[in-house]
Amino acid sequence: MPKACSFPTTLVIFGISVQDVLQDSTPDVARDKDALDLFCGAAAIHRAAVDSGLASTAFDKFRVPGITDSGKAGLTEDLSSKSGFMRALELVKRLRRGGLLVMGPPCSSFVVLNAKKCQRNAQNNYQGDLKYPVVQLGNLLATAAAFLMAVACMRGVEVVFENPPSSTIWKFPIVKQVLDSCVQRSTCTPRCAWSREPWGKRMLKRFKFACTGTWISDIRRKCRCPGRRHLRLTCRVWRNGKFRFTGTGLALKKSAAYPDALGKAIVNAWRKSTTSCPIACSAHASSPAWLEICPGARNSLTYKRPAGTKKMRKPLPASDSLPAWLQPSPACTSASSSQPDWLQPKAIVARKLTSSTTGSASGAPSWLNPAPSSCS
Ligand SMILES: [Zn+2]
Repeated sequence: MPKACSFPTTLVIFGISVQDVLQDSTPDVARDKDALDLFCGAAAIHRAAVDSGLASTAFDKFRVPGITDSGKAGLTEDLSSKSGFMRALELVKRLRRGGLLVMGPPCSSFVVLNAKKCQRNAQNNYQGDLKYPVVQLGNLLATAAAFLMAVACMRGVEVVFENPPSSTIWKFPIVKQVLDSCVQRSTCTPRCAWSREPWGKRMLKRFKFACTGTWISDIRRKCRCPGRRHLRLTCRVWRNGKFRFTGTGLALKKSAAYPDALGKAIVNAWRKSTTSCPIACSAHASSPAWLEICPGARNSLTYKRPAGTKKMRKPLPASDSLPAWLQPSPACTSASSSQPDWLQPKAIVARKLTSSTTGSASGAPSWLNPAPSSCS
């Protein structure tokens, strides 16, 4: 008998839990999308999917300046606002079974360049300095990404999650829990291996992709730059009596964008895998979405490891092992009162979800507002 996945269905963001979404009583949306390129940046995944004749959507706060970053309900693609998050959630729900969700949440608060101010370490469970706005935003977007990833996996969608290999987002509790529950394979590839720029002008930047399918191995490449010469993204500067690393803004931004060849390779690898993908079969079609087996559960359920391949990691314990700060509590406690309100549970769980504009209408995202006084 299939058993339930260890996904954190109690994860709450903007007053909505994963379970709320999966048990939503309103009729399911049409699952008419093949791919969603979330935090799309230069949208290489989206373009590759469209070029292949697929129904794809690109989503990013900075995609259309003046529109998607405006905060207007129905237009915003800012995942730090409730209306932007709800729009992304609707798009995730529209992905067909076996469809593709690719996301690379911003890494700026999780990497070494700003590590001193962000203060992410094992002692604070990589949550960082919660008073620092950059950390607050990083935590919110990482939590939003984990939420959407969990919903997608539970609905039989293939998910690819990307960040630099050294990013501490891989250790951020809720992201780690979702990844540990559903990821079959992780692989790294350097940007320079996919670039068409002249030798020596290519950026070395490494991408790490964690995926619900083993097909992501197809994009593994090695750096073959002559003399291992690359365009430098960071330099050492003498400041306040110490050497410090600093980035050159434009180059760093450009380095985050996937080269077109990498976008095509990811889409092609996924498409090649779909013909034999167990989650695309009709066996689970009659089950309610929230009871279906996630791709990661194949490890312990029906999936059999081919001979000669590496053993997969075991699924983590059930969701009740979530850190206390992520557990939705019916009553506000002293432990939760110090959290931003986007992580505060709702008093009443609504089963019908709407894309309310709460949180962004005032211009300031709700997670920046002080916690309600009733929680103090
Ligand atoms: Zn190289």
